[in-house]
Amino acid sequence: MSRVYNFSAGPAVMPEEVLTEIRDEVLEYGSSGMSVMEMSHRSKDFEAILHGTENTLRELMSIPDNYKVLFIQGGASQQFAAVPMNLMRNKVADYINTGNWTKKAIQEAKLFGKVNVIASSEDKTFSYIPDVDDLPISEDADYVYICQNNTIYGTRYSKLPDTKGKDLVADVSSMFVSEPLDVSKYGVIYAGVQKNAGPAGLVVSIVREDLITDECLPGTPTMLKWKTQADNDSMYNTPNTWAIYVCGKVFEWIKRNGGLTAMKERNEKKAALLYDYLDSSKLFKGTVRKDSRSLMNVPFITGNEELDKEFIAVCGENGIKNIKGHRSVGGMRASIYNAMPYEGVAKLVSVMEDFEKKHI
Ligand SMILES: *Cc1c(COP(=O)(O)O)cnc(C)c1O
Repeated sequence: MSRVYNFSAGPAVMPEEVLTEIRDEVLEYGSSGMSVMEMSHRSKDFEAILHGTENTLRELMSIPDNYKVLFIQGGASQQFAAVPMNLMRNKVADYINTGNWTKKAIQEAKLFGKVNVIASSEDKTFSYIPDVDDLPISEDADYVYICQNNTIYGTRYSKLPDTKGKDLVADVSSMFVSEPLDVSKYGVIYAGVQKNAGPAGLVVSIVREDLITDECLPGTPTMLKWKTQADNDSMYNTPNTWAIYVCGKVFEWIKRNGGLTAMKERNEKKAALLYDYLDSSKLFKGTVRKDSRSLMNVPFITGNEELDKEFIAVCGENGIKNIKGHRSVGGMRASIYNAMPYEGVAKLVSVMEDFEKKHI
């Protein structure tokens, strides 16, 4: 076996310790005589897994009691529709456009009501987070929507927007459980777990209770109503049992390793190593304005497509995989989620240094 340093944006690197635990339980979970993937979602064993996963997450994120934690299928992309369907009472919402994921969310919300794009960084290829201190919040907006960490462009909000009393909805897919968040500042937080917490096919939506009602838009499918998920403990139908189980393991791993404060410190250390090198390099350049840099996704370029290609090939020879940038940005992108060890980033930087020496 030879595991590589996997810098994929998602599905992404998992803690090796968790993979080993899962391997050891794959034939028999506890004394159940079966694998978790063979288990009824209504069984006592699975019920304990579901509640354990939720409780560990509640503890990690200090989720207040008046928020529900929902485990939903359909990915983060399906929440792009679920958000307006569940929240658009006035059929108006304000969106901040910071890249591909908000563009998709905006496109979806437009199916249901009026969307005001109240700030955007599209003028500079989404390389920064717009100023959010005094936004033209619409009087009748049902909510204000952001993507807090932009996976593709590598930007992250250093502070939350002033929503002037409106509920904040945040897609945190690529920064989920990477640092502490003050949940009480949001109406809704949701994340596809395959970036930082588990396997694909599960989204965790954390929704303030008063936003979970029957007053969805007419025609909202039963499965897309948060109320259906909340009333049925995320078990209206068969949930993604396997992903819930794996996320539970990852949440426990985070807890064992000091919780979200410790994760943030580790992530800052890793990111600083890479950004400091990028700032000093004569060959490689980060593409994001300094005040908007993500701790999780670090895009960079040489400015020469041929060199980029050559560098990606050299990485491959050195056990560094999935470093190619998103097709809409080009260059390279290093996703350095919780499970990427410091040594992985150090290895990447040393390969970059060697490459720079040969090409400058
Ligand atoms: C990956 C990603 C999504 C899409 O997730 P799916 O689970 O594939 O639908 C949405 N938003 C952000 C910020 C992402 O990183």
